[in-house]
Amino acid sequence: MSRVAESPSLPAPFPTVVDALRHHAQHQPERLAYTFLAESGEEESKLTFAQLDAQARAIAVELQKAGAAGQRVVMLYPSCLEFVAAYFGCLYGNVVAVPAYPPEPARLQRTLPRLQAIVKNASAKKILTTQAIKSMVSFFTPYAPELGEVEWIATDAVDVNQASEYQRPNIGPQTLSFLQYTSGSTATPKGVMVTHANLVANTLALTGSVKTHKDSVLVCWLPLFHDMGLIGNVIHAAYVGFHCVLMAPTTFLQNPFLWVKAVSDYKATFTGGPNFGYELCNRKVTAGQRATLNLSSLETAYNGAEPVRYETLERFFELFGPHGLRRSALKPCYGMAETTLVVSMTSMDSTGPITMMADGSSLERNQIQPVAETHAGARRLVASGNVATDATQRVLIVRPETGVRCAANEVGEIWTSGPSVARGYWNMSDETEAIFHAYLSDTGEGPFLRTGDLGFLREDGELFITGRWKDLVIIRGTNHYPQDIERTMEQQHPAMRPGCGAAFCVDVKDEERLVVVQEVDANKVSDFDGLLEKVRSAITQNHGVQPYALVLVAPRSITKTSSGKIQRRACRALWLSGEMEKVYEWRQPELAAE
Ligand code: ATP
Ligand code: MG
Repeated sequence: MSRVAESPSLPAPFPTVVDALRHHAQHQPERLAYTFLAESGEEESKLTFAQLDAQARAIAVELQKAGAAGQRVVMLYPSCLEFVAAYFGCLYGNVVAVPAYPPEPARLQRTLPRLQAIVKNASAKKILTTQAIKSMVSFFTPYAPELGEVEWIATDAVDVNQASEYQRPNIGPQTLSFLQYTSGSTATPKGVMVTHANLVANTLALTGSVKTHKDSVLVCWLPLFHDMGLIGNVIHAAYVGFHCVLMAPTTFLQNPFLWVKAVSDYKATFTGGPNFGYELCNRKVTAGQRATLNLSSLETAYNGAEPVRYETLERFFELFGPHGLRRSALKPCYGMAETTLVVSMTSMDSTGPITMMADGSSLERNQIQPVAETHAGARRLVASGNVATDATQRVLIVRPETGVRCAANEVGEIWTSGPSVARGYWNMSDETEAIFHAYLSDTGEGPFLRTGDLGFLREDGELFITGRWKDLVIIRGTNHYPQDIERTMEQQHPAMRPGCGAAFCVDVKDEERLVVVQEVDANKVSDFDGLLEKVRSAITQNHGVQPYALVLVAPRSITKTSSGKIQRRACRALWLSGEMEKVYEWRQPELAAE
């Protein structure tokens, strides 16, 4: 019998997340629900299901007393169990939670505008936080006076004894559970309206693919205010009723070993993150550290939220396979806030990431032409999981310009419909209409969600993501994916910081031209001209495009979202404004001189 078949089966689906958590608090009160690891990797705090339920009830009572029921309430927490209790407190109290990231005092200019935009769009009158952050409010208000006008509630000061006063309000599948603001990779963040029915449908789709159950163990270092950390981990664990071990993203970034160590220590079965997390482990975890690990418990190590790089996964397997990691655990996946979380996930019976070789020049014309690995110009594409297209969920590939379905071998925009598709964007009716209510122009079928992502769907249900439509670099009618060009640039020298580049188009004399900006450790470079000449010829050779400008910038200059995604449009705007601080820049001489 396989491991999966031996596993205890899932309880009957609960209609809401509140029903699920209350059920677990009653039926397994003493079991650990969440453990939080400090920066040292030591356990800092823990909650059993009964403790979490009591805290959530007490916070719900506090919120109801404050008149917050039915209102949007912004949540500002560092990664901690207070966040988890407050989030469930909102759900219990029928308060629409709006998770956001606390502004960083040292980087207010970068972090405050997102919070201000969220408070304004959600018309939030209250902010939930910790006592420590509440004591710093006067530090933010000179820069954002409106934050002084809202009511700040510190949920870690709430008396847990008032839990007994809790009376469940009317919460059903169609109740709005929370607003998930998108990352803001391509535009200002939009508040996706997620209902309990969405959360349940998406969690069941996820558990259906990855077969988690009550004895699963999850380790997560992702930000909790973002869909992947919150839904894929915190809610996933609460719904199914298993143990979730959390650490702050900064803990992982400072010492990536602590992630894999936690997987090994807790015998975790489920973990994951974006590609850069695996990349960081490949570079930073030493052979001595790897030797202490046993990763054989891991059934799922998902990789999503960003383009999945095959080389990263291969290297990760090469380094951690000898320490118990199973290849079958490596599971690329794809999703977004607008679909609650997951659209496609590599299935449990796969033996590892699924790839195919396609002709690179056909791809530039949106065509998929499978070729042999030895074919000149062959490109390896990695599937981002399988889509179960059934009576409820549909995934179509559509020509974005015309709204007509693509042929089987054509790349187009991914459209989807089903119970995981959220209700729309809060307080943005035009955007909701354009994105959530799309209809095929020839057959009139719909409504579908337009994901804005490009890809193709193989007959066997494997979904390949090629990139974002808005980020596509189109030069002389040929499509180039920025991530491919960025990779070519970063590979030319070890001083180039991996995953820290941005390729985009600018208009020069009525023609689209390529600009690539890349972070560099300048002290490791002796000859900038020689380096950029090497980059220029590699880009020309690999992609058939003459760059217009190649720009080297200092580490941490490329703007990224709070979840670590590159903001190519913001980077483009900065470059165009002439205000980008450059370490070195090369421009195509004949055009630059004109
Ligand atoms: P905004 O919508 O504000 O620009 P965002 O799209 O980054 O921000 P999210 O909902 O956090 O906000 O991210 C979803 C996006 O992440 C997807 O639309 C897709 O572009 C990208 N993504 C997710 N999984 C993958 C994957 N496997 N491969 C490539 N890209 C992915
Ligand atoms: Mg998006």
